[in-house]
Amino acid sequence: MTAYPHLLAPLDLGFTTLKNRVLMGSMHTGLEETRDWPRVAEFYAARARGGVALMVTGGIGPNLEGSVLPGAAMMASDQDVENHSVVTRAVHAAGGKIAMQILHAGRYSYGPKCVGPSPVKSPISPFPPAELDEAGIEKQISDIVNAARLAQRAGYDGVEIMGSEGYFLNQFLVTHTNKRTDRWGGSYENRMRLPIEVVRRVRAEVGTDFILIYRLSMIDLVPNGSTFDEVVQLAKAVEAAGATILNTGIGWHEARIPTIATSVPRAAFAWVTQKLMGQVSIPLITSNRINTPEVAEDVLATGCADMVSMARPMLADAEFVNKAAAGLGKEIAPCIACNQACLDHTFGGKLTSCLVNPRACHETELVLKQADVVKTVAVVGAGPAGLATALAAAQRGHRVTLFDATQEIGGQLNMAKQVPGKEEFHGLVDWYRTMVGKAGIALKLGHRVGVDDLSGFDEIVVATGVLPRDPEIEGQDHPSVVSYIDVLRGKVAVGQNVAVIGAGGIGFDVSEYLLHDGESPAENLPLWMREWGVCDPAEHRAGLAPDGPQPEAPARRITLLQRKAERHGKRLGKTTGWIHRATLKMKDVSFVGGVNYERIDDSGLHVSFGEARENPTLIAADTIVFCAGQVSDRSLAEALAAAGIAAHVIGGADVASELDAKRAINQGTRLAASL
Ligand code: FAD
Ligand code: NAP
Ligand code: SF4
Repeated sequence: MTAYPHLLAPLDLGFTTLKNRVLMGSMHTGLEETRDWPRVAEFYAARARGGVALMVTGGIGPNLEGSVLPGAAMMASDQDVENHSVVTRAVHAAGGKIAMQILHAGRYSYGPKCVGPSPVKSPISPFPPAELDEAGIEKQISDIVNAARLAQRAGYDGVEIMGSEGYFLNQFLVTHTNKRTDRWGGSYENRMRLPIEVVRRVRAEVGTDFILIYRLSMIDLVPNGSTFDEVVQLAKAVEAAGATILNTGIGWHEARIPTIATSVPRAAFAWVTQKLMGQVSIPLITSNRINTPEVAEDVLATGCADMVSMARPMLADAEFVNKAAAGLGKEIAPCIACNQACLDHTFGGKLTSCLVNPRACHETELVLKQADVVKTVAVVGAGPAGLATALAAAQRGHRVTLFDATQEIGGQLNMAKQVPGKEEFHGLVDWYRTMVGKAGIALKLGHRVGVDDLSGFDEIVVATGVLPRDPEIEGQDHPSVVSYIDVLRGKVAVGQNVAVIGAGGIGFDVSEYLLHDGESPAENLPLWMREWGVCDPAEHRAGLAPDGPQPEAPARRITLLQRKAERHGKRLGKTTGWIHRATLKMKDVSFVGGVNYERIDDSGLHVSFGEARENPTLIAADTIVFCAGQVSDRSLAEALAAAGIAAHVIGGADVASELDAKRAINQGTRLAASL
């Protein structure tokens, strides 16, 4: 008997059956744009082999004006059909099913040719859309229909029509972006004419036995978004127009409410999909922050939806479904919802991958094949760099011994997991613990390794991480001064007035840690919804609470300082930095930049501004926390070098600047692939 009976139950669509309730949601990986179609094919085929019932490709443009970027992948020509056929053949050979997402970006198209219902520029693009006339609208519809026809010719099992997240079809639905007075604007019947027409004509083109998913925005989270009555009306009309399945969209891209970041509670929006259950007779898919089989099973068992969509979790572990089905849930590499290697890469114009699984989207290039010669490998340091090396080397057949000076694996991840909103790091450390055990790695904890411990190994890997940087501020021996390590390890009492020195990732995290008292909003959905001003869309249009965000009172008064004059948090993650800034602002943190640290004494921290060290100011603080960056811990690496012993140095021990777990894991995995 499986622990996930709902998740693994087949879903009969009449003309075809899905083998379980897991959809791999659409992700723009950038792979299609490489034009390396065998590589694209292997990415999807790996997930098909991993057991997922149905996959949706990244958004594929129906024409130039609707593509997300100039040069983005399209489905508009015979050549496109040929290219995509490579993917569908590989997926079918692997026993999977795949639908192509048709994404018309409308005013979110990042180019001067973008079009929309009205010339209303989006806040996340510099390009105002050209208002479409009647002929222009007809062209968009026929291009979308043409893309569906070609997708069918390319062998796809269906298409997903992207109607949410604030893209083209969504832009017609709401008065926020649709100011028209013709038959495509004005009343709701007029505004929903375009999505209905698109679904009706795609269905007429592809016939009955072809999956047609419509992605419908169920909670827009933007001012003047849809009411829930409108959502229900649209859902019924889309069903009548011929959709097979409705997929849930949550929030427009320009919404100022996080919807998938790690600080969003798991399955935070499943209740929104549930509101539509019973109102239509086609299956509903729910999505957002579902990342374990337990959460997915619960969502289905409690009647929130008929299927779950998981996108990023399929980057973290292509074998998600197979492992769940085999009762090996603990071996599923968890998506920690960090966005660091997926969305941040997409928005930075880089190929998507995954912090936890650097092989994602690199399946054909980063290969962990069995070693020709089995070696003994010593890995010193069980932080992410050392763990990734040890695991990948052991998976290749090497005999690995992993050392750490502390009594636990995880390195700095054990501090990260203490931060409210970063609880997912617990799961990552737990997963490594499971996998280290399974891989037969000899684990030696509680021993600080010296040169003498490392004789007799074929390969030595030094992954000893970092040490906090000493900012050398006059008076820093004062008892009010503590380091982020002492704070996050709970070793020191922290006062009510706190100055945090250093506004990097750790300065932000320490501030969030000190601002919260009691339960983390990431683990308490009603609290999180209050903090961000999210409410029931049936009560208030688009799910925006009328009185806005209502954050809990901050537990402390915090001043966050940096020497740079730039905006605080400028270098944080592209898709998550704004969330950290907003969280701290909500809790009245004062951001002070452009400072010189003059001295610390009984009254607090004295700072001045500018090169002339003007305007000396006292920041009265009873606790001063140093988060001034980190330097490599190279003591072992240097001792080995002095003894003439060769070693590989990775992670923070190699380069501390701009180090994160993504780089550490990637470097460790790549090293192991080469041993
Ligand atoms: P470390 O994690 O520092 O591990 C080094 C290990 O080596 C330690 O366990 C240490 O005990 C051991 N060691 C050292 N010397 C010896 C020796 N001689 N013998 C035996 N063992 C030894 N990164 C992200 O990507 N995303 C985040 O959201 C994020 N949040 C963070 C939040 C906080 C609060 C902190 C502190 C860090 C965060 N990071 C984050 C950074 C990330 O944790 C580090 O970049 C990563 O841990 C570095 O990995 P590493 O393996 O090189 O070193
Ligand atoms: P960091 O990002 O390099 O920030 C260090 C901070 O200390 C900066 O604000 C810097 O600003 C200040 N600083 C540097 N030298 C100083 C000095 N001599 N005296 C006083 N202040 C000094 O490092 P971090 O915050 O320690 O984070 C370490 C790594 O972990 C980072 O690379 C980061 O990417 C990673 N991390 C990531 C996340 C995440 O969410 N992705 C979260 C936490 C940590 P000024 O020079 O302007 O003063
Ligand atoms: Fe998940 Fe982070 Fe990997 Fe993206 S990079 S898939 S958010 S773990």
